Amino acid sequence: MAIDLRLPTNSIVRPDKDRFLDEVNPFEAMMSRFDRAAELLDLEPGIYKILRNPEKQLIVSVPVQLDNGEVEVFTGYRVLYNTSRGPAKGGIRFDMKVTLEEVKALAAWMTWKCAVVNLPFGGAKGGVVCDPLGMSVGELERVTRRYTKGIISLLGPDTDVPAPDVNTNERVMAWVMDTYSMHVGRTENAVVTGKPVEMGGSLGRKEATGRGCMLVTREAMNHLGLKMKGATVAVQGFGNVGSIAAKLLVREGCRVVAIGDRAGAFHNAKGIDVDAAIAYVAKHRSLEGFDGADAMNPDDLLTLDVDVLVPAALENVITTKNAPKIRARLICEGANGPTTAAADPILDEKGIFVIPDILANAGGVTVSYFEWVQDRMGYFWSEDDVNERLGGIMTRSFQEVLSLSKQHRVNMRTAAYMTSISRVATVHRLRGIYA
Ligand code: NAD
Repeated sequence: MAIDLRLPTNSIVRPDKDRFLDEVNPFEAMMSRFDRAAELLDLEPGIYKILRNPEKQLIVSVPVQLDNGEVEVFTGYRVLYNTSRGPAKGGIRFDMKVTLEEVKALAAWMTWKCAVVNLPFGGAKGGVVCDPLGMSVGELERVTRRYTKGIISLLGPDTDVPAPDVNTNERVMAWVMDTYSMHVGRTENAVVTGKPVEMGGSLGRKEATGRGCMLVTREAMNHLGLKMKGATVAVQGFGNVGSIAAKLLVREGCRVVAIGDRAGAFHNAKGIDVDAAIAYVAKHRSLEGFDGADAMNPDDLLTLDVDVLVPAALENVITTKNAPKIRARLICEGANGPTTAAADPILDEKGIFVIPDILANAGGVTVSYFEWVQDRMGYFWSEDDVNERLGGIMTRSFQEVLSLSKQHRVNMRTAAYMTSISRVATVHRLRGIYA
């Protein structure tokens, strides 16, 4: 199988002006939700202080010889936010906008995400400040290998297990795995997930996040007394997460009436042929020119009168400006951070049921966990096996969060944070403080 060297494109899209309307420092935006959950849990001050601080933050210089012979020095980060429950888990992104604050926030996010679905992992994130789309494959490989060497003291199947993120893919993960393996003198495929299947990647990983979105949407609709058959859906972002979520929701009987990507948005009240749209994007790399639906204003996609809205593209797209106009009954946050903290209460007031990102898109990290387990066992599961186990974890996790939300009369986001934080806090209490 040929490995696709093309990199994801979501990070190069320049956001529309509303995206930064409610934005604050990304770490503080994340922590405002943490604080609310910590308060409701009545978290003791000591544990609160521990959980508000990352365990380790590493900044490395990444000198690389470019194709033209010149040397460029890039800056790389790796933050291990919390490893009390197991090895740190989290992606590596290559992007000009990477900052330590952002990496810290994303590492905290991974901690809560792994805990909400009860994986035996902590949270981490990494990044290199660079423009991978302007680099040759050789330059990209040299950046990846030198960055990996820079953070190698953290890496290992028992300590820190990276994965792909913005602008990195399975090819990049193969280089990370090879660099680590050369360093330790043996082939160690469990050091990284999101690898090509030929070298220890898991079947079902590519579809896992979208599948997880479908699974929790199904649970939520059941809870709300909504029928899947004929339910209308709008999906923002038609990449890995959005297109698979759309495809699987159609299989459950839903009618996807709007889809959109960086090239534009499309509407068809009778229902879009999602398979045809996926085939179109595979051929043309975006929805530009898609004729299976009418073009619509992309901003209007989020406020359509639909049963289900799946934001699966970018962060900060549901803001205080458009939240009052949202008409969906249910929002499944396929993307990370699509709703600003300031927009949360507006959605609550409108009675919109939100499946929060740390739960809704946890299918990806769950199958990453399966990949790590399979690598460590040296025994690989069938795709049906992977999907069945994923179904078990996603539905159980949804029900756990739902029951906490009912018990404390809080929304699903707060309940998801409470679930995660109490799991991490419990382990800290049990382990005590090493002195
Ligand atoms: P992707 O690159 O495959 O797709 C992103 C999609 O968003 C593309 O269709 C792109 O055209 C679209 N997009 C970009 N800018 C847009 C804009 N301004 N308006 C509308 N659409 C726009 O990425 P992905 O893997 O599907 O990830 C999408 C989101 O889901 C990200 O927030 C990512 O962090 C999150 N996520 C992904 C995974 C995973 O396993 N892939 C797991 C957890 C969370």
